[in-house]
Amino acid sequence: MAQTGPDAGGADCRDRPPVSFELFPPRTDAAALALGRTIDKLAEAHPAFISVTFGAGGSSRDRSLTVLRYMLEHTDVEPMAHLTCVGSSHAEANRLVREFLDAGITSFLALRGDPPAGADASPDAGIGDLDSAAELVQLIHRVQEEREPFGQVGIPGLPGVTQIGERPRPERVAVATFPTGHPRSRGVAQDVDTLLAKEIAGANLAITQLFWRAEDYLGFVDRARAGGVTIPILPGIMPVTTPARLARLTELTGVEPPASLAIDLEIEPDAAAQAELGIGYATRLAADVLAGGAPGLHLYTFNRHEAVLDVLDRLGIGVNDRLVNERNTTER
Ligand code: FAD
Repeated sequence: MAQTGPDAGGADCRDRPPVSFELFPPRTDAAALALGRTIDKLAEAHPAFISVTFGAGGSSRDRSLTVLRYMLEHTDVEPMAHLTCVGSSHAEANRLVREFLDAGITSFLALRGDPPAGADASPDAGIGDLDSAAELVQLIHRVQEEREPFGQVGIPGLPGVTQIGERPRPERVAVATFPTGHPRSRGVAQDVDTLLAKEIAGANLAITQLFWRAEDYLGFVDRARAGGVTIPILPGIMPVTTPARLARLTELTGVEPPASLAIDLEIEPDAAAQAELGIGYATRLAADVLAGGAPGLHLYTFNRHEAVLDVLDRLGIGVNDRLVNERNTTER
């Protein structure tokens, strides 16, 4: 079940599938300092990109931008900005996209986001001008085109003569997708249709909500392909290393973990053994989806590098393996 469509990650390591990571913006100065070290460690794994979440309603805009700028200035990693549009007017969303483009960000994860608690969450509720991620995808392309309408490119062999080149396009416009169904979705057909709408709007990559069974991801990809989706669908995987984190994730995403994992984490008293359970589970899941044709891995880090890098090491595609791979390639 190999996936078709554009490259999922722009891998710079020929020997392995592309990997990417997700971070959230820190809330305190101490956390910001720690996050800088985390980013440096993650960068050593040469990810295709690192994405930074965006607080609902723009609450984390400045902190998200600070993290993205850090990546631009201090690493070779491509930063990807999550942006949400729910509750925004066209003008506000336009300004937001322009601000991120002006900061040098060219990759986005376009999201509708969740309306404030108590607000009607249906797409027809009309809070703000933009009702879906697909509309934000279109807006990102439009703002980019308005910013840099046409480039002039030279014609080989004709010095001084130029022609209008292709319009610059954002590097990656990714969108979210939900292998076990969006909490508000009426069924899998709607999730596939929503993803197809995002692709038609101009998305070139999808990243999944976390899931716990390889067949959930692989089955969803099959249904998406049958429904006409062609863009790469990156599996989102998180090594969950404490029972408290698993409970919080379940509450946030509504995706039920396997009872066995929840119970094993709960009854295991030792923190190191708990971490081992979570990392082992994520590694097996990642291996299974890669074996099933996944075009890469998107790892949710919870702002820690240890567990996700451990998963990559166990898969044989970690930082050290990469160095080994490079050495082998040079020696050949
Ligand atoms: P959409 O795809 O636009 O819509 C979500 C659902 O609404 C659809 O699946 C469908 O069921 C329904 N729907 C949409 N359009 C229609 C229509 N026309 N008719 C009928 N039904 C429709 N949230 C944040 O606030 N910040 C983040 O940084 C963030 N990052 C995320 C990263 C990933 C990888 C994922 C999976 C989620 C993330 N979220 C984030 C959560 C996300 O904002 C919520 O899940 C939100 O409820 C849906 O956003 P969306 O972009 O999927 O919306």
